[in-house]
Amino acid sequence: MENCLFCKIAAGQIPSKIVYQDQDVVAFADINPQAPHHVLIIPRRHIDYMSDLTLEDGPILARLFTTAAQLAHEMGIDESGYRFLTNVGPDAGQSVFHLHFHLLGGRRLGWPPG
Ligand code: AMP
Ligand code: ZN
Repeated sequence: MENCLFCKIAAGQIPSKIVYQDQDVVAFADINPQAPHHVLIIPRRHIDYMSDLTLEDGPILARLFTTAAQLAHEMGIDESGYRFLTNVGPDAGQSVFHLHFHLLGGRRLGWPPG
């Protein structure tokens, strides 16, 4: 997808602090971290957002979730806890329209969200 920030990050055309990548998934540090650990995990294939997912996307979703769990383990926050979420649309504050999940941890996370 042309002019998509996260497609460009996945292709290495825009620099980022990549913490994990394989043929399907890329994980990189959020440029404006909201917690001591804040990583974004994306599919390489462009999907606008969660509302566009279909049952056929099951395998890539499993890859995103298992990557998050593995990274949380490597970051040492799997015992203390973490949050894994995707924002959809204006009320949730979605600002980049390439499906991404936030992995947040390393501090007490408030609930409900503000
Ligand atoms: P959202 O608001 O849920 O769409 O999340 C978009 C996230 O992308 C925000 O947390 C931003 O800080 C982050 N972000 C924007 N540009 C970059 C970038 N160039 N590299 C890393 N993270 C970014
Ligand atoms: Zn994209």
